[in-house]
Amino acid sequence: MDLITDNEKNETADLIGALGISREVYAFGESILATLRESFERIDRIAEYNQAKVLLAMQKNRVSAACFSGSTGYGYNDIGRDTLERVYADTFHTEDALVRPQITCGTHALAIALSANLRPGDELLSVSGAPYDTLLEVIGIRPGPCSLLENGVTYRQVELLPDGGFDREGIERAITDKTAMVAIQRSKGYSTRPSFSVEQIGGIIGFIKERHPEITVMVDNCYGEFVEESEPSDYGADMIVGSLIKNPGGGLAPVGGYICGTAKCVERCGYRLTAPGLGREVGAAPGVIDRLYQGFFLAPTVTAAAEKGAIFAAAIYEKLGFKCIPGAAGVRHDIIQAVELGSEKAMLAFCKGIQAAAPVDSFATPVPGDMPGYEDKVVMAAGAFVQGASIELSADGPIREPYAVYFQGGLTFPHAKLGILMSLQKMYEAGLVEVR
Ligand SMILES: *Cc1c(COP(=O)(O)O)cnc(C)c1O
Repeated sequence: MDLITDNEKNETADLIGALGISREVYAFGESILATLRESFERIDRIAEYNQAKVLLAMQKNRVSAACFSGSTGYGYNDIGRDTLERVYADTFHTEDALVRPQITCGTHALAIALSANLRPGDELLSVSGAPYDTLLEVIGIRPGPCSLLENGVTYRQVELLPDGGFDREGIERAITDKTAMVAIQRSKGYSTRPSFSVEQIGGIIGFIKERHPEITVMVDNCYGEFVEESEPSDYGADMIVGSLIKNPGGGLAPVGGYICGTAKCVERCGYRLTAPGLGREVGAAPGVIDRLYQGFFLAPTVTAAAEKGAIFAAAIYEKLGFKCIPGAAGVRHDIIQAVELGSEKAMLAFCKGIQAAAPVDSFATPVPGDMPGYEDKVVMAAGAFVQGASIELSADGPIREPYAVYFQGGLTFPHAKLGILMSLQKMYEAGLVEVR
């Protein structure tokens, strides 16, 4: 029996019409949505599991109102900050964690993890091919001041195999006495390879650790948190690193980054973040710490909403003949949905739609522009409460072949759905697609 009456359906369609989404586009969306029930159920189960994990960690560490008061000045003995770090460490099953509003973004967290744990003469080995764009300058692949290279750390990378898997032979050949750290990027970032499953990452960590137990393994965990029931730290990664304006901030964290890992690695990160001798003892968290807690609490369901949005987008655009990575039926390892739109015009129409569906800055029109840390012009659509937060509904992509737009986020599934329908609406109005 249908629990929603035709009358109610019409009222919804009218309201959505007021947002600018036509009846054809809405109906097309409904027909796609009807096919996705099973994958949504699977996501809900994972969210429940992860919710329990976070809840347990909060209870175990006796989170209380006293944790939310924040600190000022040096921030000595800030129990809110220190307890939050315990909550992260227990959720991700690591010895320790550094979770700070002073970590300005994901790139900063990664730069800290790398530079704190690599010394002159060491070599960093990326085993997942080229790293995320903003790390090029951190490492020194693209020259710039204060890179690892400038500080005597060399770099090598092993490309992925044509099927997207890790090249074990290539990795074994590339490891030398100098190799001090291996870096693995979980999510595809701005490339169209598939993202890795935690199990795949675990396999390669095992392969490396069996032969070279002394090598530190760092995983760029951006966009992957809470998508699966386990994290790379459950498989022996020495550090997992990410941004609080992505999944683990749950949309509420206004700033911050995290590094969870072994006590030894995390301690060094503390000294790199603040100063030798001071380390983690300092670092006030005035006025933000409650949002970091609450955001982490919401993160499993917010991540689930974003993932549902990604699946809905894939199902729609696949049906219209565009290549989607992953496909609608594919297994997901992060919240990013790449859609190869094939032209700049289509990228702009798509982003225009996402922008028009935003709660903030919906009146703005995205135009391609230069971005610090990125080589090509990038078009971005985001109307977020937290500036640049890609756990909120957003789409972006570098203007280059194959003109792929990377869609992600959505604090709630209904909003992600409306955003995707609006992107479709703009594509439809530009004559780029037919909806039937
Ligand atoms: C977002 C991201 C980063 C960098 O994070 P910022 O917060 O944008 O600096 C690094 N790696 C991956 C895979 C990412 O998705």
